[in-house]
Amino acid sequence: MIVMKFGGTSVANFEAITRTIFIIGGKLDQKPVVVVSALSKVTDLLYRISDTAASSNAAEMETLLAQLRERHVNLAAELLEQSPMLKEEAVAEVNRICDSLDSLARAVCAVGELSDRNKAIIISNGELLSSTVICFAMNAKGIRTGFIDARTMMVTNDSYLKGEPVVDEILARVPGTVAQAYEGKDAVITQGFIASNLNGEQTVLGRGGSDYSASLIGLAVDAEKIEIWTDVDGVRSADPRKVANTKYLEKISFEEAAEMAHFGAKVLHPLTIEPAVKKNIPIYVLNSTNPSGKGTAILRNELIEDGVKSVSFKENIRVINIFSMRMINTSGFLRRVFEIFSESKVSVDLISTSEANISVTVDASEKIDSVVEQLSEFAEVIVDDDKSQVSVIGKNIVKLNGMLKRTFAPLKKCNVYMISQGASFVNISFVVDREELTEVVQSLHHHLFETPEELETF
Ligand code: ADP
Ligand code: ASP
Ligand code: MG
Repeated sequence: MIVMKFGGTSVANFEAITRTIFIIGGKLDQKPVVVVSALSKVTDLLYRISDTAASSNAAEMETLLAQLRERHVNLAAELLEQSPMLKEEAVAEVNRICDSLDSLARAVCAVGELSDRNKAIIISNGELLSSTVICFAMNAKGIRTGFIDARTMMVTNDSYLKGEPVVDEILARVPGTVAQAYEGKDAVITQGFIASNLNGEQTVLGRGGSDYSASLIGLAVDAEKIEIWTDVDGVRSADPRKVANTKYLEKISFEEAAEMAHFGAKVLHPLTIEPAVKKNIPIYVLNSTNPSGKGTAILRNELIEDGVKSVSFKENIRVINIFSMRMINTSGFLRRVFEIFSESKVSVDLISTSEANISVTVDASEKIDSVVEQLSEFAEVIVDDDKSQVSVIGKNIVKLNGMLKRTFAPLKKCNVYMISQGASFVNISFVVDREELTEVVQSLHHHLFETPEELETF
């Protein structure tokens, strides 16, 4: 069995879905479990629908709801042109899902208040709609496809918008559900991103979470491999939207991929690697617009060579500087500080400490008001906004001779605020001003990947 996950751009429209079904059709002998995201930009649209509902902006909300329905009805009609009976059924199903969304959105709009629970229900509709339409289209193409509602088998805790998987429950439910859906079929399809809690209430895994769903399902069915189909030829040495001449990476280790994703490379959800690692299941990142390409293989550490693989970045972060003379020669100070972060559910990326100072970085989207307030009770706290975090990633780079010199040589002119190295052997990270980010990333990438070491002039 294999898991094949198709992201938004791979299921964006008629052409993309036709290509995707062709790719799946070529792999039926490997028993695919297909995991799909919402059509490209649909989750964004659903977020806007929830915002307009929450602010009681009925006119705009109705326009957006109509757009969503029209896009899916038209797509179903186009894909099922040749199969009038299936077309009628698919359009009816799309309308049924949209009717139920409309009623919820209107109810929310009437009171002007949106709970996380209702928001999760609203934003889940993208995956429900895409998987429904694609399932009909696969059957119309002669691939007998079983449909699985992911909410029956993917279980998370009660965090509605960023559910944390209850892995034991997922492992208990997925194999039986998949086996049952497979009876008499050539393939099965389910949704990424969406799940439910133990009470059966709907939850989602957080933005970009379909990769994570695919990996959890791969673990549960003991998949031979997990394929992440997207719109680039695999993982590259940097984000191709930011840096020219990025290098294609034929293979990287689980650890390198996890660090890249965690430190900003948007090609994979940061937690995708974690389930796969447990059973050493290889992950392939592949391009659905170029299916004959080799893609990137993400494999166990021992199969990968040492060396620099990537320059990743997080564009918008904050540095929180915590200063207290009380830190000197006292035990328990760090514990107290990090308990506050943990209780407020604020996730910390980099940490560096000196005698009386702790600096940490957090994503700019984290809500830090309560952390700052609590820390200020016993320390001086200064928050620096508009910073970016840059990470050089590669197996054992921390042990490579002259690596720090190579990393910082191209940054002669800019301020570097924090440096973190050594926590893992695969990552050197530092913080710069946000306005300098593009230049820093580009010159660092050029220096590390396009300048032969012997030509470096330092
Ligand atoms: P999907 O909708 O398939 O999940 P995403 O947009 O989430 O696709 O991820 C693919 C995008 O990730 C690519 O289009 C690319 O711009 C971006 N990206 C960021 N960093 C990298 C990287 N290091 N290698 C490849 N792609 C990257
Ligand atoms: N559709 C969801 C999102 O846009 C999940 C995903 O695509 O992975 O965030
Ligand atoms: Mg993605």
